[in-house]
Amino acid sequence: MKRKYVRKLFNTRKPYDLEKSNDVFCQAMRENAMHHYKQCPDYKRILDEANFDPKSIACMDDLINLPFLPTLYFKHHELFSKPLWKMPIKATSSGTSSGFKSKIAMSIGDLWRGFKMIKRIFSYHKLWSIRPVTYLIFGYQPTKHSEAGIMKTAYGFTYVAPAKKRVYAIRWSKENGYQVDLDYMKAAFIKASQQRTPIRTIGFPAYTYFLLKEMKAEGIKLQMAKGSKVTIGGGWKQFYAEKVDKNEFYQLVHEVLGIEEKNCVEFFGAVEHPILYTDCDYHHFHVPAYARVIIRDPDTFKPVPKGQMGLINLLTPMMEGTPLLSVMTDDLGVLHYEGCECGELSPWLEIIGRVGIKDITTCAQGADDLLSK
Ligand SMILES: [Zn+2]
Repeated sequence: MKRKYVRKLFNTRKPYDLEKSNDVFCQAMRENAMHHYKQCPDYKRILDEANFDPKSIACMDDLINLPFLPTLYFKHHELFSKPLWKMPIKATSSGTSSGFKSKIAMSIGDLWRGFKMIKRIFSYHKLWSIRPVTYLIFGYQPTKHSEAGIMKTAYGFTYVAPAKKRVYAIRWSKENGYQVDLDYMKAAFIKASQQRTPIRTIGFPAYTYFLLKEMKAEGIKLQMAKGSKVTIGGGWKQFYAEKVDKNEFYQLVHEVLGIEEKNCVEFFGAVEHPILYTDCDYHHFHVPAYARVIIRDPDTFKPVPKGQMGLINLLTPMMEGTPLLSVMTDDLGVLHYEGCECGELSPWLEIIGRVGIKDITTCAQGADDLLSK
């Protein structure tokens, strides 16, 4: 199967130029839809039942009619479009309370495209560094006991700048399994502040926030080396319960670690939509050229008028291993078209939060559980 347009899309030089990439994006979606239609019987059945011919995709409007699969669907069904043994990565989403996890397989081509995307986006946001850094990771220490996608992602990020050292907040021990150890992290922060090596923090904002709050209460004020960055990912969902404002978080980072707001970078992505969303200097998630976002009415699933809130539907032709062309999340969001002070014209996605389904908890919730243990 030729993947001419998919390749073209992932070779784009301007990662946020949606206007110019619209045509290539549609062609790539058609290419990708036809591939999965041929290779994945379940996907073929879904399109057939909806009376949708993948060959018919010609413009952005056709993508509205392309059947979407809810993220929940991937927690109950395994959809693969290539023999499993041919795919080097099997990622699972972090668990939910019901114990179901999405299983996604990535081919070598998928990894390659992911690599090109990360390279381009990190260059755009000036995140590459040749200077070694100390990584303080608010996440799981990689062991054979966990294969959660988020952990792999966190580990992958530590190659963005050479690692002098990696310190993990959730460490594995034979006796107790995974345990959160924030005191250990606190000591690591204090030690790092006395050294000239810049730091990078990675991981769940909740942990970073709890620890910094505690440090502030103890009157700890550090000054991290120049070039230090706080990067967060894994969701702010638990913050809705905590009612924490992002600005308050950035202030806390500045007060306790001496790191300026512009050096706080947030990422967003999902196992079911492995596209890297990175916030700009004004903390907006601009939609990159590799993806499109449709906001839909939760009752009718019709696209809402520009600027209105609805369910977030994420589209990308990136994946060859699993049909992730159009995935419906259970998050509410708004796509903003009013422009941004950073100068980027691509609309930006504001994630409002989860639809009130009690049964569905996120990885962030799982992290919360660990923390309260
Ligand atoms: Zn912006």
